[in-house]
Amino acid sequence: MSHTKKRVISLYPGIRNFQIITIIVILTFTGFIGLFLAKTPEAYAKNIILFIGDGMGPEQVRAAGYYRHNHPNSLSFERFSFRTTIATDAADNPVTDSAAGATAMATGQRVNVGVLSQAIPGNGRDYETILEHMAKQGKMTGLITTVPISHATPAAFASHQPSRKNSAGIIQNYFENSRPDLLMGVKGEEIPVQTIEKAGYTYITSIDTLPEPDPNNGPILARFEEVPKLKDLTQFALSYLQHDTNGFFLMIEAGRIDWAAHNHDTKKMIDAILDLSDAAAYAKKWAKKHEKTLILVTADHETGGLKIDRPKGIGTLPHVTWRTHGHTNTPVGLYAWGRQAGLIRSANHLTDIYDIIRESTDPIPR
Ligand SMILES: [Zn+2]
Repeated sequence: MSHTKKRVISLYPGIRNFQIITIIVILTFTGFIGLFLAKTPEAYAKNIILFIGDGMGPEQVRAAGYYRHNHPNSLSFERFSFRTTIATDAADNPVTDSAAGATAMATGQRVNVGVLSQAIPGNGRDYETILEHMAKQGKMTGLITTVPISHATPAAFASHQPSRKNSAGIIQNYFENSRPDLLMGVKGEEIPVQTIEKAGYTYITSIDTLPEPDPNNGPILARFEEVPKLKDLTQFALSYLQHDTNGFFLMIEAGRIDWAAHNHDTKKMIDAILDLSDAAAYAKKWAKKHEKTLILVTADHETGGLKIDRPKGIGTLPHVTWRTHGHTNTPVGLYAWGRQAGLIRSANHLTDIYDIIRESTDPIPR
């Protein structure tokens, strides 16, 4: 009987099969660990900070970068880990407004222009907002803006109205239904002081008279006489909301970008974007010490059809062309930093922001 030598065929030249098997085992094991980590509560975001530049299209952002640094992609949020571009269309119009735009982010639903978080088109029922959902999860909530607090962007997060013009109804929803812990805006609409105090809110009119940032003293409504720096408001809000061990949801709007763009006031528009950039830089610095935080920066729509013809260096306004006094459907930027920031890679419309926030946060506070 001849001696037969068992021949082993290598699956990969130069490497023995047991080595290949070892590699497969290691890779599978690492994969399982990865899956396990992705599902543990440690991987979720606890705090959400959503910045909205009202009317802040991509050219607006570039203009501000050129003005401050003579360089595009140089603002704080442009240096976040992830960025993408998203569409802004409303249910009834390819060109949206702040009501339908903010409703898309707040509820994940496309509604008609002018509508605040109600099923229009549809049966008109209230859509639960991300702020309301977060409050149900035991998180604190806050809305900040540089325009009056009853304006469309903050309103879509904490009220339900068929028209953004119903400021009395919006305020009533704030006080009686959603009750955000922090409401900060600039004077505009009439709210009788007795109504504010009856609703149990501490009323503030100046940044110099802000109380100790302690939620045990109850909710705060600030209506500033003068437009404060968003960075200062962000700083106060974060030191106030961080007391909650369940985390928080905070929306911060730079509302005057849109106003300046409607008026083709390039200087005011750039200043308002730089104000937002400074606030986002502060939020990132804060979040580095409070790890379970996701920061998102985006816009509800573009305003003005802006185009930069020629940048002119630091501190000099770029030469620009404005195409309209209204809004456009130019897609806007979405930037993310922090816990679960990579989720924005799949976003392609404002409505996806709602899903990203839901997906990124722990459904059960621990
Ligand atoms: Zn506008």
